[in-house]
Amino acid sequence: MSLQELQQTWDLIIVGGGITGAGILREATRMNLRVLLVEQRDFAWGTSSRSSKLVHGGLRYLKQGKFLLTKIAVEEREHLLKDAPGLVESLEFLLPVYADQKPGKRTLAVGLSIYDLMARERQHRFYDATEFNKHLPFINQNGLTGGFLYLDAQVDDSRLVLRLIDESVSSGARALNYTSVTEILRSADGEVVGVQLNDTETHETKTLQTPAVINATGCWSEILHPSPEPHRHLRPLRGSHLVFPSEVLPISKGIGFNHPQDKRWVFIVPWEGAVLVGTTDLDHKEDLSIEPTITDAEISYLMKGLQAIFPSLHISLADCLAAFAGVRPVLSEGKQTPSAESREHVVWVNKGLITVTGGKLTTFRRLALDALKAAQPFLPSAKLPDRRDPVFSEVPDKPERAYGLSKQTWRRLYGRYGEGANTLVQTADPKDLNIIPGTHTLWAELPFAAKYEQVRHLDDLLLRRVRIGLLTPYGGKAYLKRIRNLCKDKLSWDRRRWKEEKARYLDIWIHAHALPDQRAKFLVQKKNIFLAVIRIFFSYIYQKIRSRKST
Ligand SMILES: Cc1cc2nc3c(=O)[nH]c(=O)nc-3n(C[C@H](O)[C@H](O)[C@H](O)COP(=O)(O)OP(=O)(O)OC[C@H]3O[C@@H](n4cnc5c(N)ncnc54)[C@H](O)[C@@H]3O)c2cc1C
Repeated sequence: MSLQELQQTWDLIIVGGGITGAGILREATRMNLRVLLVEQRDFAWGTSSRSSKLVHGGLRYLKQGKFLLTKIAVEEREHLLKDAPGLVESLEFLLPVYADQKPGKRTLAVGLSIYDLMARERQHRFYDATEFNKHLPFINQNGLTGGFLYLDAQVDDSRLVLRLIDESVSSGARALNYTSVTEILRSADGEVVGVQLNDTETHETKTLQTPAVINATGCWSEILHPSPEPHRHLRPLRGSHLVFPSEVLPISKGIGFNHPQDKRWVFIVPWEGAVLVGTTDLDHKEDLSIEPTITDAEISYLMKGLQAIFPSLHISLADCLAAFAGVRPVLSEGKQTPSAESREHVVWVNKGLITVTGGKLTTFRRLALDALKAAQPFLPSAKLPDRRDPVFSEVPDKPERAYGLSKQTWRRLYGRYGEGANTLVQTADPKDLNIIPGTHTLWAELPFAAKYEQVRHLDDLLLRRVRIGLLTPYGGKAYLKRIRNLCKDKLSWDRRRWKEEKARYLDIWIHAHALPDQRAKFLVQKKNIFLAVIRIFFSYIYQKIRSRKST
């Protein structure tokens, strides 16, 4: 859609299409506001597709004495488990306890009991070393005294963002990707009166009118709205993960352990058919417009942790499928260690410009309602939604016709696509209702997303609509031909465009998700293709010269 087709006047414009912006869009739609969301890259392109995918209270925050933050997050987790089955699912975690460990068994037991109290349910238990071993036979035995089992939850982060956006758009909101706000427009007395938009690819521009703008741009927030608190600024903190196939790391529960190097908690989590290992927590000094990448030091840190906790599995980097890195929008209180900084959010208000930043994926609804509350004086009068109302519209437990799919698969599809799951299955070729190897994704999800979910580029489709770019070897390179056949009617790209999209996707994958070895192999392949082209060119010239000489 061209920017020129957009209506001129809005009640509210939201800048940023991560979880914070998407959550605000959903709640603003419930308030019957004329609301538009714009995202400069793709929806969830920022931090919200690069998290650890946990919907959790955060045991770590209890240790820091952040009881309120943990309580709010536990409450939100419980709501989301009810509201978004198939998208947010509970997951058991194991915490091994070693003889010399700090925090030790007693402190962990207290923390987990508080966690249970907050969830109003006893969810943890302790196993002695023999019992614990039955759950985790590969665990390092040296000094193991037992371990805890407790409950948390996990999510597909970018699908959470997309479901919020999809449902909002179905209820009348507008959301545009690849569109940035380049300027907040103000009247002579400083009140917000509109924004200047730019399509980041066609460079088309448009000015829109609105009395209220919510800046939900995460790490980028201070570009549009410098902090009004002289001693509190955004401190971008990078966290990275490695992705392994489940055959290499055969676990069915999440595992948290103290990293031997710095005693930070690191998690190993089964996710979407693969296993994630992370995360790190470091100052991110690079330009935020460049996609963040894992560094060699982070790779070595995560591998050291993995090898220490599972020495008998002999896992090497060659087993790894991919990596991803994200940048936390953390409000610094001047702590030296990144992990000691608070994960709470802030809301700043400046004459119709409301900024909400910090926080966590889990607490997105609190951020949304706090931001809308601050925006109320600038909005048409409307009641704030109740935070206990379901965030998504209800979908049936199972469909009228099963189409040969299990109840579990329907649950997953409803969780990710809401009502759209029915169309996805009904319009699919039955052979595409099978799973892409190594993942939980159906082939049929690709053409559905390509048709209905504002896919502009192949990377939108493979890294955020579905996640096979992270879950299959070499970003799913071997599947690209089948993906093209599946999606070519939906994306109306000609041969040349497909070629360009494939090259763009592989470049992004090599830069942001490949490990050093994989990168080297790709470059060798590229070099070989280049040499082959040169060889063909020179042999063609040679043949021409020869045929001219002989005539
Ligand atoms: C490694 C890591 C692990 C994490 N794990 C968890 C976890 O397990 N659980 C949890 O609850 N939280 C977790 N978090 C925190 C959580 O991911 C973030 O708090 C959350 O994703 C931030 O969302 P956001 O929408 O505020 O920012 P983002 O997702 O970054 O969205 C901001 C968007 O604004 C866009 N934008 C910027 N400027 C403009 C502009 N001028 N115009 C238009 N668009 C613009 C950007 O492109 C970006 O997409 C983790 C974070 C990291 C880094």
